[in-house]
Amino acid sequence: MDRGFATRCIYGNGRDYDKDKTGAISFPIYQTATYAHPAVGQSTGFDYSRLQNPTRQQVEKIVAALEGGVDALAFSSGMAAIAAMMELFDPGDHLITDSDLYGGSIRLFDHISEKNGILFSHIDCAEEDIESFVQKNTRAIFIETPTNPMMNVIDLRKVSEIAKRHGLLLIVDNTFMSPYFQNPFAFGADIIIHSGTKFLGGHNDTLSGFIVTNSQKLAERFRFIIKTVGSGLAPFDSWLILRGIKTLPLRMEKAQSNAKKIVEFLQREPGVRKVYYPGIKGTKGYEICRAQARGFGSMLTFEVESRELALHILQSTKLIPFAESLGGTETLLTYPLTQTHADVPEKVRLKNGITDCVLRLSAGIEDAQDLIDDLRQAFDSFGGRSPRSRDVEG
Ligand SMILES: *Cc1c(COP(=O)(O)O)cnc(C)c1O
Repeated sequence: MDRGFATRCIYGNGRDYDKDKTGAISFPIYQTATYAHPAVGQSTGFDYSRLQNPTRQQVEKIVAALEGGVDALAFSSGMAAIAAMMELFDPGDHLITDSDLYGGSIRLFDHISEKNGILFSHIDCAEEDIESFVQKNTRAIFIETPTNPMMNVIDLRKVSEIAKRHGLLLIVDNTFMSPYFQNPFAFGADIIIHSGTKFLGGHNDTLSGFIVTNSQKLAERFRFIIKTVGSGLAPFDSWLILRGIKTLPLRMEKAQSNAKKIVEFLQREPGVRKVYYPGIKGTKGYEICRAQARGFGSMLTFEVESRELALHILQSTKLIPFAESLGGTETLLTYPLTQTHADVPEKVRLKNGITDCVLRLSAGIEDAQDLIDDLRQAFDSFGGRSPRSRDVEG
């Protein structure tokens, strides 16, 4: 019988504490670079920590169990995972990617993958006809859902049908939902990416990234890549992510509950033009999200009425830091224009709606009322808020 999700967060599909040696309940940190061989031609299964490390292996097992994959590989950051994933492709291969992605992925594709001969079509996978972009050399579709930062929801089942029809890999960056709310393998994905820095680690203290796959063949390929490129997660950082994952379900529920309350506050706030959150009934993404996820997550984006108000809010919150990143215990406010999405070409940014009035918020697990009070005082202290002063050019 399949275990529940919360149990898998702690034990994976096994029960791997250090029972043979000390019985330590917290999995040990194997801070070692290399391992002694019992004899010539023999191995304990561990030869050198670029290839295998028990602490890293443990976090990989847990993440594989959370996504229902056959294997997971832990990298030193989300970008290290995505960069390693790109090693699957050869010069001349073509990928279809959504145009609204984490800015670092766009930077990697535009400035490194293209130089290496990979070709791209960056399209709006929620709106455009994906199939019309498939070419003879197309190998994969790369998406996030909801997208970062505009929270567009992409129908995983629909995209996976297209991928299957043309023999393409469907790669889903599942960072925003975490495996707690969404498991893309169930809808036909072949590879799942996580920035473990975000919800999996969950405490804004450790970088990490994961590639998860449900194919043995791909797993072997990725094992070769990780040992060759050498960007595997360090033992101590693996342990921090193991510890973070134990509380993933509790944090996700609390963060989502806070996000919903913040959305309600923002929708009533006169300075806010639009709130982007998949959990808002009647929006395009709502029904799709309900069909493929167990929740709506804790990420939201909102557009305020002026650039001045956006900047004022970033400078005026007393509790919520103005900082990059997401998915941690601390609620964070981000300005995608100059932070996460600064390297996205201006044309793409504006087409996607990332203007100077757009703010992104990652709800943490504080008391909702304190977060709302903080946002309210930031809005209320904006001098330019009355219609009269809004007309003054800034
Ligand atoms: C943060 C992030 C990444 C990159 O991960 P790092 O751990 O910062 O390297 C990739 N995808 C998404 C959706 C992210 O939010």
